[in-house]
Amino acid sequence: MAGTPTHCPYCALQCGMTLHDGGSEPVRVTPRDDVPANAGGLCQKGWTAAELLTVPDRLTAPMMRRGRAAPLEPCGWDEALDRITAETGRLRDLHGPDSVAVFGGGGLTNEKAYQLGKFARIALGTSQIDYNGRFCMSSAAAASGRAFGMDRGLPGPVTDLASSGAVLLAGANVAETMPPFMRHLTRMREGGGALIVVDPRRTATARQADLHLQPTPGTDIALANGLLHLALAEGLADEEYIAARTTGFDAVRTVANAYWPDRAERITGVPVPLMREAVRLLARAARAHVLTARGSEQHARGTDTVSSFINLALALGLPGREGSGYGCLTGQGNGQGGREHGQKADQLPGYRRIDDPEARAHVAGVWGVDPGDLPGPGRSAYELLSALGTAGGPKALLLFGSNPVVSAPDAAAVEERLGALDLLVVADFVPSETARRADVVLPTAQWAEESGTMTNLEGRVLRRRRAVRPPDGVRTDLEILAALAERLKAPGKWSTDPRAVFGELRRASAGGIADYSGITYERIEAEGGVFWPCPSPDHPGTPRPYLDRFPTPDGRARFVPVEHGGAAEDVDADYPVYLTTGRVLAQYQSGAQTRRVRPLAEAAPGPFVELHPDLAGRLGIEEGAGVRVESRRGAATVTARLTGAIRSDTVFIPFHWAGEGRANLLTNPALDPVSRMPEFKVCAVRLLPLPVE
Ligand code: SF4
Repeated sequence: MAGTPTHCPYCALQCGMTLHDGGSEPVRVTPRDDVPANAGGLCQKGWTAAELLTVPDRLTAPMMRRGRAAPLEPCGWDEALDRITAETGRLRDLHGPDSVAVFGGGGLTNEKAYQLGKFARIALGTSQIDYNGRFCMSSAAAASGRAFGMDRGLPGPVTDLASSGAVLLAGANVAETMPPFMRHLTRMREGGGALIVVDPRRTATARQADLHLQPTPGTDIALANGLLHLALAEGLADEEYIAARTTGFDAVRTVANAYWPDRAERITGVPVPLMREAVRLLARAARAHVLTARGSEQHARGTDTVSSFINLALALGLPGREGSGYGCLTGQGNGQGGREHGQKADQLPGYRRIDDPEARAHVAGVWGVDPGDLPGPGRSAYELLSALGTAGGPKALLLFGSNPVVSAPDAAAVEERLGALDLLVVADFVPSETARRADVVLPTAQWAEESGTMTNLEGRVLRRRRAVRPPDGVRTDLEILAALAERLKAPGKWSTDPRAVFGELRRASAGGIADYSGITYERIEAEGGVFWPCPSPDHPGTPRPYLDRFPTPDGRARFVPVEHGGAAEDVDADYPVYLTTGRVLAQYQSGAQTRRVRPLAEAAPGPFVELHPDLAGRLGIEEGAGVRVESRRGAATVTARLTGAIRSDTVFIPFHWAGEGRANLLTNPALDPVSRMPEFKVCAVRLLPLPVE
């Protein structure tokens, strides 16, 4: 049966799928064979994606609270938009433009991310805009920027992995988070390649690996430096490549020399023979990859942690060689594109710095405003959320495509800040935990009900197509932004047509790092996606960006020396166990979408803590028992799952659930000084068994 070819609503693999609208029958999903990322595969989330379109509590009318303690009640669009316009206007008159903030998401299409950044800067005139991607892979973006002069997901098409001789995955559980990705790694292993996994848990991915390094949480820098030490000691570094294509190696060599094997083992807990084997596998492969994800990125030293893995990759001569390299496995659906078009506090479209006069002049020209009217850099995501309602902080927040009540670190404190606002506006298609706390809720169209482009983890720009009609009463985000811009008498054009917005985005990105100016909807259609940078219509796009030179001033990649320092919060007598957080197969991010899809909710119904039987025995905790997990910030109540697959000094809680089982009630908002990434991946906790009722 014919259908509409499109892409999955969830993660950054952006698997290709066809949506079949069966008329009176429910809409159905089938996988596409013509999309290399998934080549006919889907995970459980993808197979059930059509059920998102019919979730029972779908929002179909704007809602408004008429008084602080009043309930949310349905209202008309004009009433909702007029109230937002009036209240933001009052606050801006009283406190200045930065009293109104905007928060976006890594799942928004490129068009929406672009329009949201423009809306904040020239319709509201505020510098206070950031997005939840700051919580996702901002440290990898910062580390890639300082090493390569650019940040773009994988170093080449995902299919390159199949011909790799070795892949080191640091902090990625792709077998659960994006299962079709495993096909490429399985093909690599079938061809004789080796998979090396770095993770404190023996995850589904680690179980399929040839080598599993299981470090103490927060010690990845020592591990990467230890691997580099071994590479140097065994003469495995690629000195010719280092001399020809990099700078700064001497300082990194000096640092690595101090991570002799016994010391690295003492810090990380990873046995020396395993480290030695890992580095030999990587160095001896004709092609190899070093890939990081949230496990090594979500740290208060996240940028340095990623730099330590990039240093290893550079020393082995991988980046800029066809079929090899360093890459970041982006998480959210448009985690890559979402960070390129100007919804970050410090950036303008094209991945340009907002404090760069040339960038400001170019973008202001496209927007039809004076460069001097563009605000400067604003607060990063957590700093913005924690400033809400404070003296000098924003008094109103307009939030699109994010659910920080569940997904932000130290979530109870963030919830308190949201409660201190004069005005909270949430645009979403379901009543998320954050939407339920809003003063105004705007019901939006969702993935298959509208068109747009997404940039997947390869840096390939793809088309999402409208396949079904949205319910009566909802509007697209572009329609909402255009209506508000008109009421606010904003300068410039505010199209509601994604194709027209993409045309403007292309002009705004021209000449920037993320140059989309040669990409059109027609080309994406004809070529099955186009890799950026693509600076002109006759440019073929750039699947492998660093083959000739790195986009740094001298064309060389830069080593950055980094020292192990440990987690921001270490275990002690009061909080003696490490907590790490992550995802499970059947849920996605804050769970606002997947908890509403029946088969997914049945497969993963509620929060749990995974702990080693030795630790459980010491604490008197039994399988299936209730457990109170406490950190210095709060407490969560979860169910115990005993497994020998985790270190006995570490517990794991997935972060998909709301209420008392929220993992982020516990997490540490300590921020990376470079990327402002919070330390989601390690903090200190204690566990108390709950009495059986
Ligand atoms: Fe969707 Fe990601 Fe699953 Fe693919 S791997 S079907 S993109 S959730």
